Amino acid sequence: MGGTLTADTRALLASARALIVELAEEGVERIERRARPAVAAERLPDPAPDWAVGDPDAAESVDGSRRSLEDVRQQLGDCTRCRLSEGRSQIVFGDGDPDASLMFIGEGPGQEEDRRGLPFVGRAGELLTRMIERGLEIQRNEVYICNIVKCRPPKNRTPRPDEVATCKPFLDGQIDAVQPRAIVSLGRPATNLLLGRDVSITRVRGTWQKYRGIPLMPTFHPAYLLRQYTPENRRLVWEDLKKALERSRQQ
Ligand code: URA
Repeated sequence: MGGTLTADTRALLASARALIVELAEEGVERIERRARPAVAAERLPDPAPDWAVGDPDAAESVDGSRRSLEDVRQQLGDCTRCRLSEGRSQIVFGDGDPDASLMFIGEGPGQEEDRRGLPFVGRAGELLTRMIERGLEIQRNEVYICNIVKCRPPKNRTPRPDEVATCKPFLDGQIDAVQPRAIVSLGRPATNLLLGRDVSITRVRGTWQKYRGIPLMPTFHPAYLLRQYTPENRRLVWEDLKKALERSRQQ
């Protein structure tokens, strides 16, 4: 106990710090305190599912059994655990092979994903699909793709710490169910969450990390790549994806 932070708490703090940096970059100097709305209690997340409780760094779920993606999806239900549910058209759970050895984790659904109920099917998704299919020369449906939050944040803003924390047990459930041999985190919010600290994606990309005992390769988010489509950035992401694919093929 004494003084140690859980991975969830570290992730929450990291996301809070990232939000402050983001607000500062947008020129927000102060935030007015608002009275707590009377409905706040209703917004509290439901207790985490029992399989999500326990050592967050453990590769296995609590009872050691393997949950199926259907179990996790069912547990998520028609989720209203956080405010993101208010603006979504539908939940975007995940897509791909339930037994994939390679898993991609992004930030959150955008407009097209919210409309179609599938992750990474907008512009950034098309780029990711091209990188997988033309670059890695495997089919998109051979990997598993999901996001750290399952509902579209308003105006595609970065998901907030409480939203990310509320959704995390379901991401962990997906990882436990798929049991990939390697994970690629796409961009800073997903990488921050999985590492439980605030990172510079430029520094950490391309370096092997671990999440729940699984090798984790952080790389740039395809939306960033679309904005900064330089040969150098393309090369870096390509290197990262090749390493991740190779690791996912190792026994
Ligand atoms: N960006 C993400 O992080 N996830 C998606 O599903 C789409 C765009």
